[in-house]
Amino acid sequence: METEQIIRLQPTFSHTIWGGTRLREDYGYQEPGDDIGECWGISAHPSGDDTVSGGPYDGKKLSALWAEHRELFGNAEGDRFPLLVKIIDAKADLSIQVHPDDAYAGVHENGSLGKTECWYVLDCPEDGTLVVGHNAQTKEELESMIRGGRWNDFIREIPVKKGDFIQIDPGTVHAIKGGVMVLETQQSSDITYRVYDYDRLQNGKPRQLHIEQSLDVIRVPAASPEDSVLHAAGGAAGTVTELIACPFYTVSKVIVKGPLTMAGDPHFLNMSIYEGEGSVLGTNVKKGDHLILTAAAKEITMDGAFEAIISHI
Ligand code: ZN
Repeated sequence: METEQIIRLQPTFSHTIWGGTRLREDYGYQEPGDDIGECWGISAHPSGDDTVSGGPYDGKKLSALWAEHRELFGNAEGDRFPLLVKIIDAKADLSIQVHPDDAYAGVHENGSLGKTECWYVLDCPEDGTLVVGHNAQTKEELESMIRGGRWNDFIREIPVKKGDFIQIDPGTVHAIKGGVMVLETQQSSDITYRVYDYDRLQNGKPRQLHIEQSLDVIRVPAASPEDSVLHAAGGAAGTVTELIACPFYTVSKVIVKGPLTMAGDPHFLNMSIYEGEGSVLGTNVKKGDHLILTAAAKEITMDGAFEAIISHI
């Protein structure tokens, strides 16, 4: 049997107090509701395990594919599919949060992975911002700001534009602000420590905060705003541009206008199309599609007019 080169995935969705309708209206996902916060486009996480759509593995969960057909992933090691790719629609502000690294999560969260993540800004308002880092200069100042509820002193908002790219290392305070849509690539983990939730109520109650854990893991001082944002808008037709390479993933932006060929990965490549349409290895693709190009895809031929974010381990 010829080994499959493309795995197409059916995303899962999460509904949140800050979500909206743009994942349906702008990206075409058939998901009801007016509080759709996240599309988990490439995920084998237990909280949202995607289903293969079409081909010989139609209907299988990605977690089962990883467990039973590791050859598709170039026999990559690990007890779980390591990455998670989401599109996030923040109609309202997300809580101010921070993630632990692998070492802290391993000890304090039952052997879970920590979380390193990165954002490619798909859309944002003229005056759009993200929270990245904070203003405390010392651990003492951090503790005083957080325990004292001095949120205006603590929170550092930075202006962003469509096409900006931001790496969020563990220990980095962060929040997506209302009106911003991002494509997030992250380690497959769900460990989030909530520092502040704007005193909002959900079903009449505040959501849980994690102050002690946050104080444990927040890095002080934060990296400078200039060191936090890469302006990656635009780019030439027919290019593959690396945005970040870190120990957990490498993320690149692909701009297709006419025929383009790129090398595959010895393990696998995740691909999420966020603009336009065309073909990948002869298969039609369009905005909102999420694919895994397997180890069998040595050379990836593309055509049409589309843009995509790709990632590999
Ligand atoms: Zn996060």
